[in-house]
Amino acid sequence: MRNPRRADFPLLAANPELHYLDSAATSQKPRVVLDAMRDYYERDNANPHRGAYDLSVRATERYHDARATIARFLGVADPDCLLFTRGTTESLNLVATAWGYANINAGDEIIVTALEHHANFVPWQQLAFARGARFVVCPLTSDERVDLDALRALVSSRTKVVAFSHVSNAVGTVNPVQEMAAIARAVGALVVCDGAQGAPHLRVGFDALDVDFYAFSGHKMCGPMGIGGLIGRRDILEAMPPYQFGGDMIEFVRDDHSTWNVLPHKFEAGTPNVADAVGLAAACTYLDGIGMDDVLAHERALTALATERLSHIEGIRVYGPPPAGRSGVVSFTMSDIHPHDLATILDQNGVCIRAGHHCAQPLMRRLGVSATARASFYVYSDERDVDALVLALDKARVLFAEPATSR
Ligand code: PLP
Repeated sequence: MRNPRRADFPLLAANPELHYLDSAATSQKPRVVLDAMRDYYERDNANPHRGAYDLSVRATERYHDARATIARFLGVADPDCLLFTRGTTESLNLVATAWGYANINAGDEIIVTALEHHANFVPWQQLAFARGARFVVCPLTSDERVDLDALRALVSSRTKVVAFSHVSNAVGTVNPVQEMAAIARAVGALVVCDGAQGAPHLRVGFDALDVDFYAFSGHKMCGPMGIGGLIGRRDILEAMPPYQFGGDMIEFVRDDHSTWNVLPHKFEAGTPNVADAVGLAAACTYLDGIGMDDVLAHERALTALATERLSHIEGIRVYGPPPAGRSGVVSFTMSDIHPHDLATILDQNGVCIRAGHHCAQPLMRRLGVSATARASFYVYSDERDVDALVLALDKARVLFAEPATSR
């Protein structure tokens, strides 16, 4: 039997034989999200914050309510500390640029981990280069967890930022955020957490995490593309200069100087993306209805099942810690078959996986591979997806075992 939750997702409901195992790249969207966005455009659409007429007031309220819903879902007591952005990439660039250029100087150190997505690696690397700071990459254990002893040894009074992911997109490692934050805090460093793979899959509880910034993307958590956010501590956000300038983010503009609006507007220049915020809020309500503990438990069960079944296929190597330390990601290689070839064969069997470096080239280099194949699960995945994955991989193994001339 297929997962009954598939019926909530129009694309999956229309394609019963599709095995969508690329949710770490982007999730499918439930009908409630699509309906919420349509409803906003059909009933309440206007430019918010600007008009004195009722329709604009309604649009402003929808935007405000969406922020409150998303903040509640992510465990943020003060919704004004949740800034809307285009997604994790923009959020991390915002911190690295606005906070970074005001606070990083020659001789300082910035630490990231070898697990990072390029979005949480390159902005810090480039900031360090521009400011004459040292850029340090914290090593991993042999099963792709952050080496906490190494992190303890690396931090010093020169360390100004420690940036790390909540969950690795490439191998699925769930990092011990509070423990890592405590190591960074001990030397007074800013703690930045890339939550692109955290917010969709586990209970975030920002206020209890003890990080300074948390970045996330709506499209990976059942929401629309083009919206995400950055949660920050109020005192830091208030002290930080704006990232972009324009409408909505100003208080007064004079010929000789300008002053800035209050949070969150100071960091949201230009016409806001109201419909996508409304859609993301509906996604949070949908996930809340399932319960994030159940979301993670469901993914972990499928991850454990897939990992176990893949272990019986000749030539497969799965990366990352055991399933209990991962989210819904199974990243693997198969003998000397290129992951792109595997993905093509799987696609011919209705199985969508991702193959490549997963925007984590520093990690791939450390694994000694140029790419892996990655199957990733979400709330709508089921055992039949695992069956289809295993069957298709078995076909690939047989196909590539044949001499090239008979293919
Ligand atoms: N960080 C991680 C861990 C990711 O998985 C991703 C996307 O795959 C990003 C950052 C970038 O997210 P976006 O492309 O939505 O900005």
